[in-house]
Amino acid sequence: MNRLLLGTKNEGKIRELRDLLQQVRGLDLLTGSNLGFSDVEETGETFLENALLKARSVCAEVGLPVLAEDAGLEVVALGGAPGVRSARFSGEPVDYARNNALLLDKLHGTVDRRARFVAVSALCLPDGQAFVTSGILSGRIAQRLTGDGGFGYDPLFVPDGEARTLAEIPLAEKNRISHRRRAVERMVAVLAALLRDGELESY
Ligand code: IMP
Repeated sequence: MNRLLLGTKNEGKIRELRDLLQQVRGLDLLTGSNLGFSDVEETGETFLENALLKARSVCAEVGLPVLAEDAGLEVVALGGAPGVRSARFSGEPVDYARNNALLLDKLHGTVDRRARFVAVSALCLPDGQAFVTSGILSGRIAQRLTGDGGFGYDPLFVPDGEARTLAEIPLAEKNRISHRRRAVERMVAVLAALLRDGELESY
Protein backbone atom coordinates (compact mmCIF):
# COMPACT_ATOMS: atom_id res chain seq x y z
CA MET A 1 0.00 0.00 0.00
CA ASN A 2 3.05 2.26 0.46
CA ARG A 3 1.54 4.52 3.11
CA LEU A 4 3.61 7.26 4.78
CA LEU A 5 2.33 9.40 7.65
CA LEU A 6 3.62 12.96 8.02
CA GLY A 7 4.38 13.28 11.74
CA THR A 8 3.61 16.99 12.03
CA LYS A 9 0.43 18.96 12.72
CA ASN A 10 1.82 22.22 11.36
CA GLU A 11 -0.28 23.06 8.25
CA GLY A 12 2.49 25.09 6.63
CA LYS A 13 4.94 22.22 6.91
CA ILE A 14 2.36 19.71 5.63
CA ARG A 15 1.81 21.87 2.54
CA GLU A 16 5.54 22.15 1.93
CA LEU A 17 6.12 18.41 2.46
CA ARG A 18 3.23 17.43 0.16
CA ASP A 19 4.64 19.67 -2.53
CA LEU A 20 8.11 18.14 -2.24
CA LEU A 21 6.96 14.53 -1.89
CA GLN A 22 4.65 14.56 -4.90
CA GLN A 23 7.68 13.71 -7.03
CA VAL A 24 7.88 10.31 -5.27
CA ARG A 25 5.50 8.20 -7.37
CA GLY A 26 3.33 5.59 -5.72
CA LEU A 27 3.52 6.96 -2.17
CA ASP A 28 0.19 7.21 -0.28
CA LEU A 29 0.64 10.26 1.97
CA LEU A 30 -1.37 10.48 5.19
CA THR A 31 -1.55 13.33 7.70
CA GLY A 32 -2.99 13.84 11.18
CA SER A 33 -6.37 14.52 9.59
CA ASN A 34 -6.44 10.95 8.19
CA LEU A 35 -4.97 9.28 11.25
CA GLY A 36 -4.76 10.87 14.71
CA PHE A 37 -1.57 10.68 16.78
CA SER A 38 -0.36 12.10 20.09
CA ASP A 39 1.89 15.15 20.43
CA VAL A 40 5.50 14.30 21.25
CA GLU A 41 7.51 16.36 23.74
CA GLU A 42 10.78 17.54 22.19
CA THR A 43 13.16 16.62 25.00
CA GLY A 44 16.26 15.98 22.87
CA GLU A 45 19.46 18.03 23.01
CA THR A 46 19.94 18.05 19.22
CA PHE A 47 17.78 18.41 16.11
CA LEU A 48 18.71 14.80 15.28
CA GLU A 49 17.46 13.50 18.64
CA ASN A 50 14.20 15.43 18.39
CA ALA A 51 13.47 14.43 14.80
CA LEU A 52 14.10 10.75 15.63
CA LEU A 53 12.12 10.98 18.86
CA LYS A 54 9.07 12.33 16.99
CA ALA A 55 9.30 9.85 14.10
CA ARG A 56 9.90 6.85 16.40
CA SER A 57 7.15 7.56 18.87
CA VAL A 58 4.47 8.32 16.24
CA CYS A 59 5.59 5.23 14.26
CA ALA A 60 5.22 3.06 17.38
CA GLU A 61 1.78 4.55 18.04
CA VAL A 62 0.30 4.13 14.53
CA GLY A 63 2.28 1.16 13.15
CA LEU A 64 3.05 2.93 9.86
CA PRO A 65 6.18 4.55 8.38
CA VAL A 66 6.45 8.12 9.72
CA LEU A 67 8.39 11.14 8.50
CA ALA A 68 9.15 13.82 11.12
CA GLU A 69 11.34 16.89 11.23
CA ASP A 70 13.08 19.26 13.61
CA ALA A 71 14.62 22.58 12.68
CA GLY A 72 16.05 25.76 14.14
CA LEU A 73 18.62 28.53 14.05
CA GLU A 74 22.28 28.29 15.12
CA VAL A 75 24.23 31.52 15.68
CA VAL A 76 28.04 31.24 15.70
CA ALA A 77 28.66 34.09 18.20
CA LEU A 78 26.15 32.47 20.60
CA GLY A 79 27.87 29.07 20.52
CA GLY A 80 25.10 27.54 18.39
CA ALA A 81 22.16 29.00 20.37
CA PRO A 82 19.20 29.19 20.16
CA GLY A 83 19.51 25.72 18.49
CA VAL A 84 16.90 23.22 19.66
CA ARG A 85 15.41 26.00 21.78
CA SER A 86 14.73 28.24 18.75
CA ALA A 87 10.95 28.28 19.17
CA ARG A 88 11.08 29.06 22.90
CA PHE A 89 14.26 31.17 22.94
CA SER A 90 12.60 33.99 24.91
CA GLY A 91 10.23 31.75 26.90
CA GLU A 92 6.65 30.49 26.70
CA PRO A 93 4.32 30.94 24.95
CA VAL A 94 6.17 30.90 21.61
CA ASP A 95 6.46 34.51 20.37
CA TYR A 96 8.45 35.25 17.20
CA ALA A 97 8.65 39.01 17.79
CA ARG A 98 10.02 38.55 21.33
CA ASN A 99 12.51 35.91 20.07
CA ASN A 100 13.78 38.29 17.39
CA ALA A 101 14.10 41.15 19.89
CA LEU A 102 16.12 38.92 22.23
CA LEU A 103 18.38 37.77 19.39
CA LEU A 104 19.11 41.38 18.36
CA ASP A 105 19.78 42.24 21.97
CA LYS A 106 22.23 39.37 22.47
CA LEU A 107 24.08 40.29 19.27
CA HIS A 108 24.21 44.02 20.07
CA GLY A 109 27.69 45.27 19.14
CA THR A 110 28.73 41.84 17.81
CA VAL A 111 30.60 41.97 14.50
CA ASP A 112 30.44 38.23 13.76
CA ARG A 113 26.82 37.73 12.70
CA ARG A 114 27.21 34.34 10.98
CA ALA A 115 24.33 31.92 11.46
CA ARG A 116 22.63 28.98 9.84
CA PHE A 117 19.28 27.30 9.76
CA VAL A 118 19.40 23.54 10.24
CA ALA A 119 16.68 20.99 9.44
CA VAL A 120 16.80 17.27 10.19
CA SER A 121 14.29 14.84 8.66
CA ALA A 122 13.83 11.40 10.20
CA LEU A 123 11.98 8.48 8.65
CA CYS A 124 11.13 5.49 10.87
CA LEU A 125 9.63 2.18 9.75
CA PRO A 126 7.69 -0.19 12.04
CA ASP A 127 10.31 -2.90 11.34
CA GLY A 128 12.90 -0.76 13.18
CA GLN A 129 14.69 0.83 10.24
CA ALA A 130 15.49 4.54 10.54
CA PHE A 131 16.83 7.04 8.01
CA VAL A 132 18.02 10.57 8.67
CA THR A 133 18.88 13.47 6.36
CA SER A 134 19.89 17.07 7.10
CA GLY A 135 19.89 20.36 5.28
CA ILE A 136 21.44 23.73 6.11
CA LEU A 137 21.01 27.30 4.92
CA SER A 138 23.97 29.54 5.81
CA GLY A 139 23.72 33.29 6.24
CA ARG A 140 23.97 36.13 8.75
CA ILE A 141 21.81 37.97 11.26
CA ALA A 142 20.84 41.47 10.09
CA GLN A 143 21.10 44.59 12.28
CA ARG A 144 17.33 45.14 12.17
CA LEU A 145 14.06 43.42 11.21
CA THR A 146 13.07 43.73 7.54
CA GLY A 147 10.21 42.22 5.51
CA ASP A 148 6.91 40.72 6.52
CA GLY A 149 6.86 37.32 4.78
CA GLY A 150 7.87 33.95 6.22
CA PHE A 151 7.86 33.22 9.95
CA GLY A 152 10.13 32.90 12.97
CA TYR A 153 13.59 34.41 12.47
CA ASP A 154 13.03 35.14 8.75
CA PRO A 155 12.97 38.98 9.14
CA LEU A 156 16.50 38.84 10.62
CA PHE A 157 18.11 36.16 8.45
CA VAL A 158 20.02 37.09 5.29
CA PRO A 159 21.15 34.01 3.28
CA ASP A 160 24.71 33.99 1.91
CA GLY A 161 24.89 35.74 -1.46
CA GLU A 162 21.69 37.72 -0.71
CA ALA A 163 20.98 41.30 0.32
CA ARG A 164 17.38 40.53 1.34
CA THR A 165 16.17 38.83 4.49
CA LEU A 166 14.16 35.61 4.14
CA ALA A 167 11.08 37.66 5.05
CA GLU A 168 11.63 39.78 1.91
CA ILE A 169 12.20 36.79 -0.37
CA PRO A 170 9.00 35.36 -1.93
CA LEU A 171 7.94 32.10 -0.27
CA ALA A 172 8.31 29.98 -3.44
CA GLU A 173 11.89 31.24 -3.74
CA LYS A 174 12.62 30.61 -0.04
CA ASN A 175 11.24 27.10 -0.40
CA ARG A 176 13.73 26.39 -3.17
CA ILE A 177 16.79 27.19 -1.03
CA SER A 178 15.62 26.40 2.49
CA HIS A 179 17.27 24.05 4.98
CA ARG A 180 13.96 22.13 5.10
CA ARG A 181 13.90 21.76 1.33
CA ARG A 182 17.43 20.37 1.31
CA ALA A 183 16.73 17.84 4.08
CA VAL A 184 13.47 16.65 2.49
CA GLU A 185 14.96 16.45 -0.97
CA ARG A 186 17.61 14.09 0.35
CA MET A 187 14.84 12.06 2.00
CA VAL A 188 13.02 11.86 -1.35
CA ALA A 189 15.94 9.81 -2.62
CA VAL A 190 15.67 7.45 0.38
CA LEU A 191 11.91 7.03 -0.11
CA ALA A 192 12.33 6.35 -3.83
CA ALA A 193 14.85 3.59 -3.04
CA LEU A 194 12.58 2.02 -0.38
CA LEU A 195 9.64 2.04 -2.82
CA ARG A 196 11.77 0.54 -5.57
CA ASP A 197 12.85 -2.26 -3.22
CA GLY A 198 9.26 -2.93 -2.13
CA GLU A 199 10.03 -2.16 1.54
CA LEU A 200 6.94 0.03 2.02
CA GLU A 201 4.51 -2.33 0.30
CA SER A 202 3.17 -3.98 3.44
CA TYR A 203 2.22 -0.70 5.16
P1 IMP B 1 10.41 23.75 13.93
O1 IMP B 1 10.96 22.69 14.79
O2 IMP B 1 10.62 23.51 12.47
O3 IMP B 1 8.99 24.11 14.26
O4 IMP B 1 11.25 25.08 14.17
C1 IMP B 1 11.54 25.55 15.48
C2 IMP B 1 11.78 27.03 15.44
O5 IMP B 1 12.94 27.31 14.63
C3 IMP B 1 10.66 27.84 14.83
O6 IMP B 1 9.69 28.17 15.78
C4 IMP B 1 11.41 29.07 14.34
O7 IMP B 1 11.62 29.97 15.39
C5 IMP B 1 12.76 28.51 13.92
N1 IMP B 1 12.76 28.19 12.48
C6 IMP B 1 12.84 26.96 11.89
N2 IMP B 1 12.81 27.06 10.55
C7 IMP B 1 12.69 28.38 10.28
C8 IMP B 1 12.59 29.12 9.05
O8 IMP B 1 12.59 28.61 7.92
N3 IMP B 1 12.50 30.47 9.20
C9 IMP B 1 12.50 31.10 10.39
N4 IMP B 1 12.56 30.46 11.55
C10 IMP B 1 12.66 29.11 11.50
